[in-house]
Amino acid sequence: MPAIHWFRRDLRLNDNAALYHALNNHTSVIPIFIFDTEILDLLEDKEDARVQFIHDQLKHLQNQLKKHGSNLWVYHGQPLEVFKSICEEWDVSEVYSNRDYEPYAFERDKRVKELLNNKGIDFMQFKDQVIFEMDEITKDDGDPYTVFTPYSKKWKAAFSEEHVQGYDNEKYFSHFIKDDSDQDTIPTLESIGFRTSDIPIPPAEVKQGIIKNYSDTRNFPSIEGTSRLGIHYRFGTISIREKTRKAIALNETYLNELIWREFYMMILYHFPHVVKQSFKPAYDHIKWRNDESEFQAWCKGQTGYPIVDAGMRELNETGYMHNRVRMIVASFLCKHLLIDWRWGEAYFAKKLLDFDLSANNGGWQWAAGSGCDAAPYFRIFNPYLQTDKFDKDRKYIQKWVPEYETDQYPEPIVDHKLARQRALDTYKAGLDNAKS
Ligand code: FAD
Repeated sequence: MPAIHWFRRDLRLNDNAALYHALNNHTSVIPIFIFDTEILDLLEDKEDARVQFIHDQLKHLQNQLKKHGSNLWVYHGQPLEVFKSICEEWDVSEVYSNRDYEPYAFERDKRVKELLNNKGIDFMQFKDQVIFEMDEITKDDGDPYTVFTPYSKKWKAAFSEEHVQGYDNEKYFSHFIKDDSDQDTIPTLESIGFRTSDIPIPPAEVKQGIIKNYSDTRNFPSIEGTSRLGIHYRFGTISIREKTRKAIALNETYLNELIWREFYMMILYHFPHVVKQSFKPAYDHIKWRNDESEFQAWCKGQTGYPIVDAGMRELNETGYMHNRVRMIVASFLCKHLLIDWRWGEAYFAKKLLDFDLSANNGGWQWAAGSGCDAAPYFRIFNPYLQTDKFDKDRKYIQKWVPEYETDQYPEPIVDHKLARQRALDTYKAGLDNAKS
């Protein structure tokens, strides 16, 4: 009887854990993907570059599978309903997939497993998108870590070569189910309600030297000093094991960023309340100003703070923003404008090509001070000092804000000193309120 491999955040044939096990255990494997309407329906912008990216990757997978005499079966709908109809279409013994740690995915998989098990089909899940998952890195008493440094120390102590050993999927490519019908099994973007986007996707190959020099270059937004692999980590078009091997060989600072990625994924897994609430409940007592017009100015890059505006314009135009600038614009929104971090988080979720719930939520709660291991609230980024330090010659600003230093450029939306004091007072009052 054939088995199914269900692609989700693992859009590649090589070094893919669940796919390896499916191909190793079965001589006939049906590869499938589901355009999940529960996720797609939430996307307001129908020219979403991420949906197009997935669509392109599916075509690429299909081309590769066709070379092996097989195909990729692509569905559109609610996964539970799709699986009901798949079970009528195919007689399968097992469904394989790689584990996903987001609350929605976790619930969805629970329901799919129940459905399949009731039909006598096993639902097999594997670790693929991280090096360590769930309870593999915990404090000595078994509790999850909530502070990065001890987590990363334990991660490094637990690490050995075997954790980054790649899976040799190629050996079993002849085990994909045969299909010579030449049928087109991928719905068009239009048929699932989307259109093509003209935002380019960074390549999956990193230019030579970037990882090696990462520690020296990563903080300066005007230089190409980071990997730009975010979207590829997000959708599994690259293998985390391969990239971790590279990081270990070339640059420990880059390795630390990959560990941050896992840290936030595991925070989301262990503390799913962070999706809607502050990690530290006291921070939900802060009285945000939530001024709609100031929020619009921030979104459009019209705050009169050049480094903030440069970042927001880069995001709006390219779907990317440099990490240093993400920290500055996020801090500015929460502290200078006293706008709820959830507004900023939602805006980033709409725009970022590399949007990932765990890292985005982690980054925003860090900036707001409400998160695990966040900077103390009274440490408020000064956008001018940050500019002097990280964009000294204003190259980044000039690239994204061409009218900088002309009459066309807006006055600052708020005075820095005033905003700083207002943030300190408001945060203090909110936290005092939480205590009483
Ligand atoms: P590199 O610097 O080359 O790093 C390599 C990879 O490590 C990244 O692609 C990413 O997968 C991971 N990584 C790096 N820094 C972090 C971090 N601080 N936390 C978690 N993972 C990290 N990252 C996302 O992947 N998705 C998001 O939605 C996201 N939202 C953010 C929101 C805010 C407010 C902040 C401050 C940070 C956010 N980050 C997010 C983290 C970081 O900014 C991006 O991962 C990074 O800028 C992506 O660029 P890069 O691929 O060139 O990363």
